[in-house]
Amino acid sequence: MTIDRAAIIGLGLLGGSIGLAIKARGLDIATTGWDRDPAVRAKAAERELVGQVCDTAADAVTDADLVILCVPVGAMGDAARELAPGLSPHAIISDVGSSKAAVAAALAAALPSACIIPAHPVAGTEQSGPEAGFATLFAGRWCIITPPDGVDPAALAALSDFWTALGSKVELMDAAHHDLVLAVTSHIPHLIAYTIVGTASDLEDVTQSEVIKYSAGGFRDFTRIAASDPVMWRDVFLTNKGAVLEMLGRFSEDLTALQRAIRSGDGDTLFDLFTRTRAIRRQVIEQGQDDERPDFGRDH
Ligand code: NAP
Repeated sequence: MTIDRAAIIGLGLLGGSIGLAIKARGLDIATTGWDRDPAVRAKAAERELVGQVCDTAADAVTDADLVILCVPVGAMGDAARELAPGLSPHAIISDVGSSKAAVAAALAAALPSACIIPAHPVAGTEQSGPEAGFATLFAGRWCIITPPDGVDPAALAALSDFWTALGSKVELMDAAHHDLVLAVTSHIPHLIAYTIVGTASDLEDVTQSEVIKYSAGGFRDFTRIAASDPVMWRDVFLTNKGAVLEMLGRFSEDLTALQRAIRSGDGDTLFDLFTRTRAIRRQVIEQGQDDERPDFGRDH
């Protein structure tokens, strides 16, 4: 099974980056695209994110071997219903959504007879929209594919090869396990960033200008995450509710233990935890997941 034609639905950061990566890597895949917003379609055409920007979702998916939905997770079902009239019976339907069990269910309900193989490239930035995409977004990053039971092995191999050709490292995972892992590695950290930035801006005895002026003291790095797209992240928390609440319960217990350690002057507990977390940072760097230069390589 080969992918000669790919349709990208949703031409923001993820959709645009897929189109640009296909082009930059010289893959022999014709690309079409559609977004519900005419202004996004116009910008996508101007930036040549895909070979052809179509006026309807059905036109975009006509004759496509692979259709990738790159819309917020709460919009997957609507987008799938919109494209259904143009879908080829042989097409693989995939997506890039940040939560997987809810998206798999929404796609299966919208396209009951289609070959659906959900996926999540674990790659992104805090920017969104058709100007945000870039060709190297997936290079060296993981793409987690969550194949349903009974998946066609040839279709799964074609999708894995597609992501490998974009520069990603592919991992297969059960959707529920994906949601648990991503709750702790991505969703809870975003929730913490949203909370700390929100809390700091609500404080009455520290002015907003002081928060911004002295932001280099740790706060600044949270603001990058807390600047992430509000629609995308609202949908992530609403569609990965169970795993997020489970991990949040665990996190709250650990936070309470730290609170107790600080109150009782238990320096050993603080020191032991901070030593363990420093080792985690070393492992992240050793596995090529971040820049090893101090302070993310910023100029000082
Ligand atoms: P984005 O830049 O905001 O792009 C999404 C695009 O989809 C927007 O142009 C949006 O248009 C459009 N859209 C919304 N509903 C639609 C519909 N029903 N039909 C067609 N188009 C629709 O978002 P993104 O960052 O690329 O995220 C897309 C997906 O990737 C999400 O599911 C997200 O969870 C996942 N993801 C994101 C990241 C990340 O770091 N950003 C990383 C990995 C995976 P409007 O502006 O009109 O709503």
